[in-house]
Amino acid sequence: MAGLTTRFAPSPTGPLHLGHAYSALTAWDLARTGGGQFLLRIEDIDQPRCRAEHEQAIYDDLRWLGLTWPEPVLRQSDRMESYAAALERLAAMGVSYACTCTRADIRAALSAPQEGAAVIGPDGPVYPGTCREAGHLAEGAAIRLNMKAALARLDAPLRFAETGPLFTGEHVVSADHLITNVGDIVLARRDIGTSYHLSVVLDDAAQGVTLVTRGADLFEATAIHVLLQRLLGLPQPEWHHHRLIRDEEGRRLAKRDDARAIARFRADGVSPAEIRAHIGL
Ligand code: GLU
Ligand code: ZN
Repeated sequence: MAGLTTRFAPSPTGPLHLGHAYSALTAWDLARTGGGQFLLRIEDIDQPRCRAEHEQAIYDDLRWLGLTWPEPVLRQSDRMESYAAALERLAAMGVSYACTCTRADIRAALSAPQEGAAVIGPDGPVYPGTCREAGHLAEGAAIRLNMKAALARLDAPLRFAETGPLFTGEHVVSADHLITNVGDIVLARRDIGTSYHLSVVLDDAAQGVTLVTRGADLFEATAIHVLLQRLLGLPQPEWHHHRLIRDEEGRRLAKRDDARAIARFRADGVSPAEIRAHIGL
């Protein structure tokens, strides 16, 4: 794994907590032991939810934990042109369409009597396909992936390699799984012009990431990312999905969980080594 490049990609929507420390330190340790490079990326496409002070706190907390990274840091808000260009390519390939559905429209369509129980995919209920053939204009609409059309363009099965301890091995993603359990996911939200999935795939490629380190909660999204990489002709990295840090009640930590914010431990005089020990690193 010599020469690997991995990254930590937080969103500046709140203080970093112990779960983020675990993720950042795991990526850092993998880069160190692999003789590779650790990158930081600021995932700030959801501008209304992002704050400059949270971004600054990310830098402060990570430096305090002992991490360093090459500057300048890549910020997704600077990459909107690349996202738009990829959306145009996907549209030209005929694998996307404009969707004007509101959340309520989707809920109503899914509760129609002929629909069975809604399947919950990586982004919530699998979209019922209402707008797939409607020919809406892209202007002011969300853009969805036409999953069946996308799969029809592939000449070989989708596979990816997982190096993390939870799901170790080679995974094959079946077309059935993508159609039934993932469906026509959003490539570009109407309000922000891109999506987590599209941006993360384009950014990992642009940054030369060879190992995607992130939490196990994003494992299900990997099938989408592998598909987008194949459609866009991007190099495929390996993945390392790590366990999630939970609170005493076994719940996942959330950004609002200020009690476990790194800054709080720091203010209380806890050392970075104690943080590492506390989260089992
Ligand atoms: N920005 C995402 C998060 O904070 C992580 C994205 C990724 O690592 O792929 O959950
Ligand atoms: Zn729609």
